[in-house]
Amino acid sequence: MPESYKKDVIRVDYRTGKKILFSSVRNNKPDDFYHISGDNWESDISKCPFEYGKEALNKTIKLVGGDEHSWKLKVIENKFPMLSPEFDFIPLEGLLEEKPAFGYCEVIFETPIHNLRFSQLGKEEYLRWLDTIIERENELYSRDRIKYVYVFKNEGPRSGASLSHTHSQIISFEEVPETIKDEQKKISEFIDSNHACLYEQILNYEKERVLVENNTFIAFAPFGSKMSSESLIMPKRHVNYVGLLSSEEKSDFVDILSKIIKTNEALFGKISYNILFHEVKDDENFHFHVEICPRVITFAAIEFAGFNTNQVFPEFYAKLFREKS
Ligand SMILES: [Zn+2]
Ligand SMILES: [Zn+2]
Repeated sequence: MPESYKKDVIRVDYRTGKKILFSSVRNNKPDDFYHISGDNWESDISKCPFEYGKEALNKTIKLVGGDEHSWKLKVIENKFPMLSPEFDFIPLEGLLEEKPAFGYCEVIFETPIHNLRFSQLGKEEYLRWLDTIIERENELYSRDRIKYVYVFKNEGPRSGASLSHTHSQIISFEEVPETIKDEQKKISEFIDSNHACLYEQILNYEKERVLVENNTFIAFAPFGSKMSSESLIMPKRHVNYVGLLSSEEKSDFVDILSKIIKTNEALFGKISYNILFHEVKDDENFHFHVEICPRVITFAAIEFAGFNTNQVFPEFYAKLFREKS
């Protein structure tokens, strides 16, 4: 195999024009989950590379609340990144489009305690996590070539996580990801024809599907939820990225986020899910929001055709949610 194929690359699938991220380094990722049965999992703490005393295994970027033996939150470089700042690239010719997957991958540990789930953290931990995200985003956006910083969390084995110690990821790219571009396009089209923000207007239509709200934030199960029991959290004020939130908004945001993940666990048990930050720092028209996608359904043939399937109407999920909370 040519050396260049061992690097992280983005290829364009000429059949659809979609971009695919190739990263063979991830085949060597450790995995500490065992006894996985549906969404019930246990893990082997001896295999966890993030415990106190194992700091030599990872490159630390930032510690909050203590030193290497007493931190409360830690940011490290992802040892198995999907993107890489260094490469040695041989361009392909003709119809085959391929380019280096340039970027940086970081991991945030919100707690040193191995067996805590994200839903079990307290408000202090959530706020520390949010402030760290804002700080890392600012630093990453200041780097050359970085156009987009994507924050997300994979919780549980069905979410794509390979290690059970709860963690979030920050990936910074050279370009805006396709889904975010699609959302930018819809927002911009709506402004052109309605002179208003799509996300603020849509609240008038999502009332039946509202899950929870407070002074400055609201969460609902979107009308066209792409996943079963999906929820969307957004600030009521027009804010295009997380760094613009006020102290009150940050506090209200983490209150709603924790309410959703706790209530989902009360409804579905110890469930795998993804938390996805959608924000665009250099597009003032964008409306910041966070999606929480429980991984109830497995990807099947119909999804390969481009239709997401959903067995739970969002109205029904919203009703169950409000009864349980
Ligand atoms: Zn651990
Ligand atoms: Zn808005």
